Amino acid sequence: MHPFASLFTPEPSGYRLPRHQAHLVRRALISGIVLVSFFAVFDALYTGYLLHATAEALSALALLAIVLRHRKGMGSDHAAALGIFVSGFLVLLVALSGKAEDGVLVWLVGFPTLPVLFLGRRLGLLINSLFTTISILVLSLLIQHQDAGEGFTWVAVFNTGGAMIAVTVVVFLYDTMRGSAASHLAQEAKTDPLTGLLNRRGLLDTYPRELAAARRFGRPLSLLVLDLDHFKRVNDTFGHDGGDLALQFVVKTMKRLIRQDDWSARVGGEEFAVLLPNTDITEGRGVGEKIRAGIEASPLVLEGGQRVPLTVSIGVAQAQTGPGGDGDDLDTLFTRADRRLYKAKSEGRNKVVWDD
Ligand code: GH3
Ligand code: MG
Ligand code: MG
Repeated sequence: MHPFASLFTPEPSGYRLPRHQAHLVRRALISGIVLVSFFAVFDALYTGYLLHATAEALSALALLAIVLRHRKGMGSDHAAALGIFVSGFLVLLVALSGKAEDGVLVWLVGFPTLPVLFLGRRLGLLINSLFTTISILVLSLLIQHQDAGEGFTWVAVFNTGGAMIAVTVVVFLYDTMRGSAASHLAQEAKTDPLTGLLNRRGLLDTYPRELAAARRFGRPLSLLVLDLDHFKRVNDTFGHDGGDLALQFVVKTMKRLIRQDDWSARVGGEEFAVLLPNTDITEGRGVGEKIRAGIEASPLVLEGGQRVPLTVSIGVAQAQTGPGGDGDDLDTLFTRADRRLYKAKSEGRNKVVWDD
């Protein structure tokens, strides 16, 4: 692979613009096409700057190509990077061919916001570094070849370069904060607030990765579905707050008894699921039994000294991960485990069931 090729491959998935932002970028680019086309026509017919008009028309086409290519979603890739380069050189051309006293260098200062916001921080920083360096170099050459007392001054070049770096730093920091806020929100959306476990969506997200890993390495994968027994009575006796405390207590007990790489989730009010990588049904049954016995053996003691007896019923199922098939989806596996959970309920509760 060409050494620079990796710079133009899409950024890691975290960097790909989320759908709503992609729509905004798309609209921004369409506005850009309209604006640049207007200037192309204006320069061709009114000012007579044919070089400008040609560059603007080419830029409009490049931007159009990006929009068409990204009809389904806007991400970081070759076309977008190229479009930004084209726009940058258009800005440079406009800035350098205008009159210094008209403040044309201001266009250069505005440009560095675009690469970072549209292409992500890594590629944005690279393009901004190149663009700033080229702009300063071209301006310096221009100064040396212009008549004394005319055109751009060294102070103007210094200020422009400084402002371009400052804009890059600010927009880079902004994007870093936006990125961490977004990943924080994404994390929250997958977490149950009462227990801190994954919620249903979190489990749905996690399952395909674990299934793929299980299939790739030929390892088993099991699921426990747990439901607290007669939890309504706990609420009726100790109040809803007592019930909440009991849920948190059960989770603490459960987490103490499972491995670090097991995934536990709260999938309903008093219903939980534990995904057990590298665990077959016999071992899964053992884990279930350990949790069942652990919860039964350690009742919650409330502040007033009241004991809240808790038990749990558990259904166990193993995913079909054998070669050839696609493997079970979460729904299929969950339904199988849930059926066994209800068998445990009907057989008197406080029980682990692993067959039909
Ligand atoms: P079973 O053994 O058949 O599962 O009986 P159960 O009483 O546990 O089952 P049921 O589904 O009838 O009741 C579940 C109860 O769990 C009802 C509801 O009030 C309680 N519950 C659900 N979510 C929460 C919660 O977030 N906090 C509290 N305190 N209680 C909850
Ligand atoms: Mg229930
Ligand atoms: Mg229950």
